[in-house]
Amino acid sequence: MIRELTQPSRRQFLTTVAGAASAPSIIAADTTSDKKLGYALVGLGSLSTNQIAPALLTTKYSRLAGIVTGTPAKEKTWADNYGIPEKNIYNYETFDQIADNPDIDIVYVVLPNSMHHDYTVRAAKAGKHVLCEKPMATSVAEAEAMIDACQKAKRKLAIGYRCQFEPYNLECKRLAREKEFGDLRMIDAGFGFRSGNPNQWRLRHALAGGGALMDVGIYALQACRYLTGEEPVRISATESKTDPVKFKEVDETILWNMTFASGVVATCSTTYKFSGVNRFHAFADKGWFGLDPAYSYRGIKGKTSRGDLKFEDIDQFAAEMDDFSQCILEDKESRVPGEEGLKDMIAIEAIYKSIRTGTEVSV
Ligand code: NAD
Repeated sequence: MIRELTQPSRRQFLTTVAGAASAPSIIAADTTSDKKLGYALVGLGSLSTNQIAPALLTTKYSRLAGIVTGTPAKEKTWADNYGIPEKNIYNYETFDQIADNPDIDIVYVVLPNSMHHDYTVRAAKAGKHVLCEKPMATSVAEAEAMIDACQKAKRKLAIGYRCQFEPYNLECKRLAREKEFGDLRMIDAGFGFRSGNPNQWRLRHALAGGGALMDVGIYALQACRYLTGEEPVRISATESKTDPVKFKEVDETILWNMTFASGVVATCSTTYKFSGVNRFHAFADKGWFGLDPAYSYRGIKGKTSRGDLKFEDIDQFAAEMDDFSQCILEDKESRVPGEEGLKDMIAIEAIYKSIRTGTEVSV
């Protein structure tokens, strides 16, 4: 198994204002509350270490109950830091035995993209609910199979779209849907950063499934979809590659346009070549609103044609996990179900098809 080093440039762009939360030392996990559902994290890389596990120390309905790792050296540190009993520690070979563990209610898949499908299907077969990181999968076919596996197992599946729990993004969604500025006409959205380590899995097609678009362009795509509440019906895209060695296997910079059924148009961008693009702006008949930065963990800023937006930062991962736990406890549909991930995969495949064929694609 390849072990990844943390990418400073990536962390920097996501944390924009405040620093990334660092892993805490010696914390007793709350294992007593029967209201808290037990999460097992699969893949203990940067996101699990710096965001998800610390968030699980603050959650009301969720707790860190187990881990799945291919790196034995991590087991003791995580067990000590988070009070995880040995019986709740798995590796990739023993993973399926999680079926017999009543401490684990939810498997959170935090692995390279091409592994999401396999671990989601196996978790569902083990009788566990699944929260899967974005992008949900590397193809529409995989995403459909994941939804199918969870449906057959009667387990819930949600995708880690943390921005759908973030107050500034939610307010913009409300402004758009409730037509506070009249009918929406155009969205301009983009997310990119300068990719560092040339040996990371994100640059290997077999593990990532694609480049900047799969990794961060998906946030701009999501924003267009949650602002409009619609699906794109026509997509055209172009790709630019200035470093064909580093980005031999995956996309470097993509520009794409989408037309939605109501006539709203969106112009979007994503890149692995430079940092700074992290925004959306929405233009409506009677004004405009937007976020810049829009997709960071903290420090999001919002403006409208009537003035600034102001909300407190929240821990988006804690909110996302507690929401999923509540959906399970109350048997409610998640606002970010597998179908939401599938819709993004359909648009992403259309973007790649448009680049390949040089034509506009009907979706
Ligand atoms: P990472 O490289 O830091 O961690 C990946 C983990 O997978 C590591 O623990 C590594 O050991 C393990 N792994 C298992 N098999 C592997 C293999 N064959 N090759 C490489 N690693 C392997 O990555 P990350 O940044 O934690 O990203 C993990 C997932 O989370 C990705 O799907 C990514 O898109 C997603 N992510 C989401 C957000 C968000 O804000 N929601 C942010 C970052 C990453």
